[in-house]
Amino acid sequence: MATTGEESQNQAGRHQEVGHKSLLQSDALYQYILETSVYPREPEPMKELREITAKHPWNIMTTSADEGQFLNMLLKLINAKNTMEIGVYTGYSLLATALALPDDGKILAMDINRENYELGLPVIQKAGVAHKIDFREGPALPVLDQLIQDGKHGTFDFIFVDADKDNYLNYHKRLIELVKVGGLIGYDNTLWNGSVVAPPDAPLRKYVRYYRDFVLELNKALAADPRIEICMLPVGDGITLCRRIS
Ligand code: SAM
Ligand code: CA
Repeated sequence: MATTGEESQNQAGRHQEVGHKSLLQSDALYQYILETSVYPREPEPMKELREITAKHPWNIMTTSADEGQFLNMLLKLINAKNTMEIGVYTGYSLLATALALPDDGKILAMDINRENYELGLPVIQKAGVAHKIDFREGPALPVLDQLIQDGKHGTFDFIFVDADKDNYLNYHKRLIELVKVGGLIGYDNTLWNGSVVAPPDAPLRKYVRYYRDFVLELNKALAADPRIEICMLPVGDGITLCRRIS
């Protein structure tokens, strides 16, 4: 069906909204979700961390509150105990994870930037879940290689990947060995601000345009990977859940 001029203008406008946290057609609908079912049930420490993060100049990177709620429930549903997170920033998804795990649960958390993690750390400590977190500062890839060398195959129940999109396929090669059969890997931002369907002349920000090709390549590779079942959810900026089946 042909699109009208107005429609394509609206589309172009949406692609410019890099900070937009929802892929829903209407902002009002997204606000409705937040106000009726997310914010009223958001644990106090997550609210506090969200408010601290909102003041940080890179707050666009944070996980949205609805996605945090989704991750928290998902982890409980699968009884996750041993987990990993690549890309921590100030720790909103990390805290959503830590609050969902049992007291002896573990999160191996990696980020090249410790400073931002330390912004959120006092809140995580106050929430009484810091003992579940093993934070490693530095690039994730060498840590994954080390885990493989150490024979940690099939030991993770859940892995959340929310870091450098140009490395997702490199991560996938390793994570598919590290996650247990029946376990989940969640790749975040797989709809990349809606840019995966942007026309070639759409006015995308430079970094959105740069990473888009990597996200497109990842999405194709995941859809073709026989070792996993997948489900791409339009939550946040899109999250693709991959369940290892072999
Ligand atoms: N999950 C976080 C949250 O809930 O707020 C958001 C993560 S943010 C979108 C991406 C993070 O990935 C940044 O903090 C960045 O420092 C980190 N990062 C970038 N390249 C990385 C790498 N090679 N290894 C580990 N972390 C990396
Ligand atoms: Ca993300």
